[in-house]
Amino acid sequence: MELRIYPDPILSEKCAKAEPDDSDIPKILEEMCEKLYQYDGAGLAAPQIGILKRIIVADVREEPRRLYKMINPVITWKSEETIESKEGCLSLPFLREKIFRHESITVEYLDENFIKQEIQAFGFLSCCLQHEIDHLDGILYIDRLSRLKKSRAIRKFKKLQIENDPEDGI
Ligand SMILES: [Zn+2]
Repeated sequence: MELRIYPDPILSEKCAKAEPDDSDIPKILEEMCEKLYQYDGAGLAAPQIGILKRIIVADVREEPRRLYKMINPVITWKSEETIESKEGCLSLPFLREKIFRHESITVEYLDENFIKQEIQAFGFLSCCLQHEIDHLDGILYIDRLSRLKKSRAIRKFKKLQIENDPEDGI
């Protein structure tokens, strides 16, 4: 399972709910956690490794350290208050852009044993989970920029790709 890089069309697809009888889930979670640490990301969503299922993993490296594995996560509450979030994405290497996210959210999800869990996330974890859950609906953080800023970001991304990987530049 390769890491999918923008503009891979799979990144724009909406994912289906994961079913408890889906025997692939433990393997998918394992692969996702491996990739998360291999690429030193804060979070990763299943479509980023080509799997169109509603699964995310996240470890924002804050104390107390915790690796979240979330199946079918749903945001059930969002704070009105927003914060600026400087985002990056493993599917858009090298690019970083500022957007606004809800400062705090409540997320309901199933853990790896398909047991229902709920957390309230603040700050960086809140932003990270919003970013990953967006992936499940085919939304990248650059889609949350204004049209002008998004086209500027894509140009910058293409340039960064060429600078960092001249063999494979677009
Ligand atoms: Zn991402």
